[in-house]
Amino acid sequence: MDTRLDENQVTLITGCYGFIGTHLVKKWLENSNHRVIGMDSITYAARPEYLTDFLKKNPQYSTRFTSVSGEEVGDIRNQEAVSWVMRQFKVNHVIHLAAESHVCKSISAPRTFFETNVMGTFSLIHEFSKLPHSQRGRFLQVSTDEVFGELPSDRLDLKFSHDTPLQPRSPYAASKAGAEHVVQCYTHTYGIDTVITNCTNNFGRYQHEEKLIPKTVKAILENKPITIYGDGNQVRDWISVENHCDGLLAAFEHALLGDRILFGGNWEMSVRQVVAKIKNIMGRPEHPVEYTLDRPTDDRRYAVTLTKAKELGWKPLDKSGREEALKSTLIALEEEFKGEQ
Ligand code: NAD
Repeated sequence: MDTRLDENQVTLITGCYGFIGTHLVKKWLENSNHRVIGMDSITYAARPEYLTDFLKKNPQYSTRFTSVSGEEVGDIRNQEAVSWVMRQFKVNHVIHLAAESHVCKSISAPRTFFETNVMGTFSLIHEFSKLPHSQRGRFLQVSTDEVFGELPSDRLDLKFSHDTPLQPRSPYAASKAGAEHVVQCYTHTYGIDTVITNCTNNFGRYQHEEKLIPKTVKAILENKPITIYGDGNQVRDWISVENHCDGLLAAFEHALLGDRILFGGNWEMSVRQVVAKIKNIMGRPEHPVEYTLDRPTDDRRYAVTLTKAKELGWKPLDKSGREEALKSTLIALEEEFKGEQ
């Protein structure tokens, strides 16, 4: 029997040139028969060269990928552009990744976060809801575990689950929670087929250097001290971006209409532990670390239950798989940074 991914359909992937977007477009092309339309306004966080390079090296996929990118046409806040893309390319499905994604930036300049993450999501789902019923498939909203707030560091038995209420604490988390409400109301009010996924901290190649792992690798390569916010005891769950993208394929394929699926690597580590691990793998255990003032809303711990994700046939990497994924990430990031010098 044909599955959703086998059909000759058109999937719009927003934020296609960001960190997860780059990995996901590759995965979608490799694992489906879909034509992929990538929409991206190319903010400072976008790295179009990586996907472009992949398509050059894999010409068999290039005919199935079309990019609509740039400040005007690629911006999800531009409702006219969104409407044009959906009709012009006869879009069946949307995987919505485009977002302002850096918590620190959301604290110093929150406006763009609400404009892109909430209103951009509104433009997308509203235009999606206007497509003919026979054309319209699934809208997958890629969200974060940060919408749930924080867990106490001394209650390791507690984890977020699919029915945990949203209690966002940073402007980034609030804007992603707002986007989720927009998406959910289109299911309840108009019957649109939506699925929301909440994932923990991704690691992998192509990640912007503002994020912890690339930032640490860069500091080591440049012989500069590594900076950690606060005491470094904030605990996050770490997942390989490839493993997350496999989860997104599974959620697209098998989740029920209106479902919420949580993904995580089952690999809780504090910021201090992550930095120590990177220093060891890179053979620089003595590299200096500087502690700076904590961010105003630096949640103490995030962790998620994986029951529903596993019911879809997905599973997190095992211990050796995730250690291997981290090692190859560090090698790839070193190459990326050395290539930039
Ligand atoms: P990223 O910052 O690396 O990439 C975001 C992409 O969106 C960039 O290419 C950027 O140019 C694009 N973009 C931003 N504003 C836009 C706009 N107005 N119109 C069109 N494109 C725009 O982010 P990422 O880490 O790849 O995250 C992708 C998604 O996954 C986000 O929605 C994020 O909230 C979610 N998420 C990320 C993580 C993680 O650990 N990285 C974890 C859970 C959820």
